[in-house]
Amino acid sequence: MTSIGVGLIGTGYMGKCHALAWNGVGPVFGTGRRPRLVHLAEASADLAARRAAEFGFERATGDWREVVDDPEVEVVSITTPNALHAEMALAALAAGKHVWCEKPMATTLVDAERMVAAARAAGRVAVLGYNYIQNPLIRHIGRLLAEGAIGAVSHVRFEMDEDFMADPEAPFGWKSEAASGYGALDDFGVHPLSLMHVLFGGVVRVMAQLAKPYPDRPLPEGGRRAVETFDIASVLMELRNGATGIMALNRAARGRKNRLAMQVFGSRGAIAYDQERMNEFQFFTASGDAADQGFRTVLSAPAHPPYDRFVPAPGHGLGFNDLKLIECHELLEAIAGRPAHIIDFAAGLGIERAVHAMARSHSEASWSYV
Ligand code: NAD
Repeated sequence: MTSIGVGLIGTGYMGKCHALAWNGVGPVFGTGRRPRLVHLAEASADLAARRAAEFGFERATGDWREVVDDPEVEVVSITTPNALHAEMALAALAAGKHVWCEKPMATTLVDAERMVAAARAAGRVAVLGYNYIQNPLIRHIGRLLAEGAIGAVSHVRFEMDEDFMADPEAPFGWKSEAASGYGALDDFGVHPLSLMHVLFGGVVRVMAQLAKPYPDRPLPEGGRRAVETFDIASVLMELRNGATGIMALNRAARGRKNRLAMQVFGSRGAIAYDQERMNEFQFFTASGDAADQGFRTVLSAPAHPPYDRFVPAPGHGLGFNDLKLIECHELLEAIAGRPAHIIDFAAGLGIERAVHAMARSHSEASWSYV
């Protein structure tokens, strides 16, 4: 067994999620290479030192470039706000590191293209944080669709709703700054788009409308600041497989906590899934006596790999952080040169193109091609 040196930049919500994944991936998957948590960076040296002690990293710094330049670091997790992803990923790749970067890839298409070119030039693995594609049930749904279990798919509906920005008095944060991107599109939309990428090959044209539920938000230091991003998006889509689709996104959806919901309608059946109930999906097939037909609920189980790596018993359930751990394992597979279920920078560029096409469609009030 050998080790692989890990660097982490950013230790907020996703930073902790990556740290948990790096800590757990060895025991859960029995990986040949065991992560060694070498170097962690935060915006200040104090916070970095505190988080390094909590997460189990050997070294801490207030300057992220020290992580990227550390010769003992082989792979860098980037979990900072969106506007910093491109600069950090480009520096890590230039230093010869593998990269695991949170979504969205970048805030401009030009930066995303530069990231793809840099990963190619460096010959390193560069993976995006699209954890929802890792749910064992989503993988199973992918197999069902590929086997034609619901026939030809003609229509899909995706929603992503959370309520963390539903309060008009919630303080102004980086997610309301134009520097973070468009808003719901690149914060939320990329997740359903990641599912569309693995299940249907992505989207070809879109018609979008973006909206701001609140014009301004209070600043922590007093006063108010105009909101620069769109918390709501409504999108019509045409998918690569010919199906039509609808995607609705709302970061200000009262009552919704992590509703990443999907309905897939086919000629012989339908599938429905909601991340708020991530350990089950609904499956309908138009077979047998019409009087007995209806959706049935399938619970996650060891029959849906890699659920079996976590729990030997069906119906006991995985959690959000487990998806990141599965993603971490896929990243290690890719680094080892084995086939991996990932969305790398090259594939992620398609998702970025779809996001920018949606923004273009909104400003031009017309259909946009991806
Ligand atoms: P966060 O605000 O909780 O954490 C960001 C951290 O980065 C903070 O601790 C901040 O101090 C640190 N940071 C800022 N500037 C830094 C710098 N120059 N050097 C080092 N550290 C710095 O944000 P978050 O919710 O963890 O989001 C981070 C990223 O993860 C975003 O791009 C977001 O879109 C993504 N995200 C992904 C998922 C998912 O499901 N994959 C979920 C949430 C967030």
